Amino acid sequence: MMKNLWSDTESDKFQDDLALRVYTSRLLGQDTSLVLHGGGNTSVKITETNLVGSTEDILYVKGSGWDLVSIEKDGFSPVRMAHMLSLSKLKSLSDPQMVNELKTQLTNATSPTPSVETILHAILPFKYVDHTHADAVVTISNTSNGEERIREIYGNRVVIVPYVMPGFDLAKEVGLLFSEMASDETEGMVLLNHGIFSFGNTARESYERMIDLVNVAEQYLVSQNAWDNEKQLTYVKSKKIRNDVSQLRQKISLVAGNPVLFNLTNSLRGISFSNRDDVEKIATRGPLTPDHVIRTKRIPMIGRDVEKFVKEYVSYFNAHKTNAKDKKTMLDPAPRVILDREFGLCAVGKNMGEIGIISDIYEHTMESILRAEKLGGFKALPASDIFDIEYWDLEQAKLLKNTNFLEFQGEVVLITGAASGIGKSCVQSFLNRGAAVVGIDIDSSIETSYQHKNYLGLICDVTDEDAIEGILEKSVCHFGGLDMIVLNAGIFPKGKKVSQLSLKEWNKVFSINLNSNLNLLREVYPLLIMAPNKGRVVVIGSKNVSAPGPGAAAYSASKAALNQLIRVLSMEWGSDGIRLNTLHPNAVFDTGIWTDEVLKSRAEHYGLTIESYKTNNLLGVEVNSMDVSELAAELCGSLFSKTTAAQIPIDGGNERVI
Ligand code: ZN
Repeated sequence: MMKNLWSDTESDKFQDDLALRVYTSRLLGQDTSLVLHGGGNTSVKITETNLVGSTEDILYVKGSGWDLVSIEKDGFSPVRMAHMLSLSKLKSLSDPQMVNELKTQLTNATSPTPSVETILHAILPFKYVDHTHADAVVTISNTSNGEERIREIYGNRVVIVPYVMPGFDLAKEVGLLFSEMASDETEGMVLLNHGIFSFGNTARESYERMIDLVNVAEQYLVSQNAWDNEKQLTYVKSKKIRNDVSQLRQKISLVAGNPVLFNLTNSLRGISFSNRDDVEKIATRGPLTPDHVIRTKRIPMIGRDVEKFVKEYVSYFNAHKTNAKDKKTMLDPAPRVILDREFGLCAVGKNMGEIGIISDIYEHTMESILRAEKLGGFKALPASDIFDIEYWDLEQAKLLKNTNFLEFQGEVVLITGAASGIGKSCVQSFLNRGAAVVGIDIDSSIETSYQHKNYLGLICDVTDEDAIEGILEKSVCHFGGLDMIVLNAGIFPKGKKVSQLSLKEWNKVFSINLNSNLNLLREVYPLLIMAPNKGRVVVIGSKNVSAPGPGAAAYSASKAALNQLIRVLSMEWGSDGIRLNTLHPNAVFDTGIWTDEVLKSRAEHYGLTIESYKTNNLLGVEVNSMDVSELAAELCGSLFSKTTAAQIPIDGGNERVI
């Protein structure tokens, strides 16, 4: 339920009008039942003196790309009020024209693009204006007699505006209705099927009116026994669903036109909602508010029939595109939200940031739909209105501009031995290229070594078959599949002559450096063959394969055996399009293997100082983990798309290898 978060001690830290605008915007942003991930907007009108000494009224309105919860003063775009008011008197204005007018009336050229609701903010005759997509208000509004209920709840406290798409037309409609309907009692405005505005002469007044207005809507839901939704199922996932998940993700990637991440959200509400007998009926009527359309698509996919979903999406596009004046480019028809009886609520996106937004939006959507059902039935906007948002000129323009596509966007890589050295560096190289990364290691620091949404660190002993099975299940449920694997885990035991080498020591090295990789490769094979861009394997081999050293029999033999295994696999898996390539690094000293002790003994062995030992190669260069990891990532990219079974030294040039 709504909480008034205003604090006198906190607000004292925000002195001027714009600072207070920042403060209460953040208060709104903290409540996810009011706004989610960039939704909603706020403004303040301030009179200022410009450089040439004239006084101007300036509207500071939220800029695009800013989230209310973390907004700063720089997140508000200053536009000249006078021009906004003149624009509001025009008969019509296209959205691209409007955006141009907004941008060219900024008083600070480095400000973000002002909200598309800027003109609307300008015409409201209050200093502070707050706008949210409050769950309770859109829930009540999205029912068959929603308008009546809103009227009953608020009386003269709000002006009610029927649904109009955000932009110039909405601003015109608001201007008209406001001049007719507003009175001394007006505290806000409800935009049906969209959200709510509150106004005030101070930041506090406008904020507290928002809290109070939404609170009244929540109390109404309570009074109608429509607040508490049914208890959620507890959910025990059956083991071994990774092949089914990967298959679904493969199909979705295919219709999306590029690899996508697919996340089982593990939401309890999601699993109980997906198992309702009426899920198809109640979940496919449309979104809560236009703001959600772009990110979640019009409706979720129920079950796993991707072909059926795409067919329906294409016919929805064809049915509505003729209504539009301009030519529209069809977006990819892949679903963003999936409701499946076994998988529960799943989200699809190009990275985990996007997936987090989609799943948050749908968590709120499910609660609202269930509540609206108790008020006589959830009723969303007609498909034609939703189409106009999804295929808005402004959105289509963004689509054409979006060229910063990262090479491994939507793809997943598993890296073994990823807590330190080359493995840890590989995590960074793949994250930099947009991949989702599963890092595994026996060292517990693996879980926290990267704070990145696209990173999942799991503790795992690579020689434990059950543990490998467990991490594959976990990774696939988190990211949707597996496209690439970097076999890096290995040990380099203390030097020992063969005459002193026990079978136990030999076996230990083989179990980690060789046998664990056989097990892992066999287990990931069914996943790699479902990789949308074909599977790729990179092996971190060793110079020792072609130039072994005395005292390193177990290490050299295990790496040589792994090398041979990969050569055989490249023949067995070639017809599946899976590429396997090996790097043979040498003398990479910023790794776990090279303890000071090993480094010292190796240097002594060659009769060199540690410093000259480090650059003891033809090029006289030091080879670092990052040099190796960057090449490992490139081996998975398009540059090597026609190469398999390659063995590439990365050692600065070594005479014994040449
Ligand atoms: Zn809005």
